[in-house]
Amino acid sequence: LLDASGQPGVTIFEEITALANKHEAINLGQGFPDTEGPAEIRQIAVDAILSGANQYAPGSGILELRQAISDHQKRFYSLDIDPNNEVVVSTGATEAIASALLAFLEPGDEVVTFEPFYDSYAAMIGLTNAQHKVVQLKAPNFEPSVNELRQAITHNTRVILINNPHNPTGTVFSTSILNEVIALAHQHDCIIVADEVYEHLTFGTKHVPIASMPGGFERTITISSAGKSFSFTGWKVGWATGPQNLITAIRTVKQFLTYSSGPAFQPAVAKALNLPESFFTGFASSLVQGANILADGLENAGIPVIRPKGTYFLVADINGFKHNDAIEVARMMPQEVGVAAIPMSVFVHPQNASSYQGLLRFAFCKKPEVLRDAVGKLQQLP
Ligand code: PMP
Ligand code: GLN
Repeated sequence: LLDASGQPGVTIFEEITALANKHEAINLGQGFPDTEGPAEIRQIAVDAILSGANQYAPGSGILELRQAISDHQKRFYSLDIDPNNEVVVSTGATEAIASALLAFLEPGDEVVTFEPFYDSYAAMIGLTNAQHKVVQLKAPNFEPSVNELRQAITHNTRVILINNPHNPTGTVFSTSILNEVIALAHQHDCIIVADEVYEHLTFGTKHVPIASMPGGFERTITISSAGKSFSFTGWKVGWATGPQNLITAIRTVKQFLTYSSGPAFQPAVAKALNLPESFFTGFASSLVQGANILADGLENAGIPVIRPKGTYFLVADINGFKHNDAIEVARMMPQEVGVAAIPMSVFVHPQNASSYQGLLRFAFCKKPEVLRDAVGKLQQLP
C-alpha cells in the first residue's frame, strides 16, 4: 500500500485522473463510461430514496436483488442459485473480492493470479499476509502457458483468483484454460475466486462463467458488479454467488467491512438485471464500435494495438518509440498530448515491470466523437 519511497500510495487511477482533470485532457485512463446507464433504472433509485429506502439494507442485500441475481444466472448461464443462501450483495465487486480473500486466506497460504492483475488484488492479498504467485500473460496474445499454470499451482495454493474477461489486457480466456484451472483446483483442493465484472462486455463470443463448467460450481465464488454491466460505476453495487459454505464465509467477513450498502440502488439494480437481452447485446456492440475507432486510429498513427476480446480496455505497444517507458509517457501525456492512459506496468509485481514497460492501457468506453477527438490528438504520440 506504500509507494516506492515508502509513502502512502494513491491508486494509479486517482493519479492519472487528477492529471487529466488538471490539463483538461480526454481521460482514457480510469475505466468509466461517459454515457449514463438507463434513465428508467436511475428513476427507480430516485423514487426509492424519496419513498424511504434510506436506512440499512439487510447485510446480504435485499431479497428482490438477490432473487434478480439468481434469475440472471439462470437466464444467461443456466445456473441454479438459491437467493437465500448462495448470494451476497456487496459494496462493489471490490468488497466481494476483499471479503473472499480475507475469508479464505491465512498468512503464508499461496494465491495464484494471472499477471497483469487488477490493482486491488495485490493490495488485498498483501493485507492477508498470503503469498501472491503469478502466471504471466505475455504480449501480443496475453494467453497463459498451461505449463506455467501447472507449475504455479501447488499443494500450498489456497485460492486461484481469475479475472475473465481480463482487465487490463482485454483477453477472454479459452474454455481449455478454464478447464485446466478447475482440474488444478480439484487436484490441489483450492477455491476459485472468479472476478467476472466484464461478463456482458465480450465482443463476438458469449461469456462462459467458470462456475458453469463441469466441476466448477462447487469450489467457485463468482463476482460481478452493476458498475460495468449497466454503466453505474459510482453506485458500487456488486455481488458474489457460489455454494452456501463459501458464501456464508464471505457474508461473515463482509458484515464487518461495510455491513451493508446502497438500499436505494439495490431495487434499481434488480430491475436492471431483468432488462431484455437486447440491452446487454446493444451495449456490447456500442463498445465494439468504440474499440474499433480507437484501435484503427492508433494503428493509423503507427502505434501497434492488441485488439481486445472484451472489457473496456485495449493495450497499445510503444516499445519501438523514442519515449517508450509507459509510466513516464502516461505522466506526460495529459499535458503534452491531451489524452490520459494507464501504464500496464502498474498491474504487475515491481520485479516484473520491465516486461510490460512499453505497454499502455486505453479505455474505450467513451462516446464515438470523444474517441475520434482522442485519436486525432494521439497522432502526436510517436
Ligand atoms: N474487478 C475488475 C477486474 C475491475 O476492473 C474493477 C473496476 N471496476 C473491479 C473489480 C471493481 O469493481 P467495483 O467498482 O464494482 O468495485
Ligand atoms: N476498474 C477501473 C479501471 O480499471 C478503476 C476503478 C478504480 O478507480 N479503482 O480503470
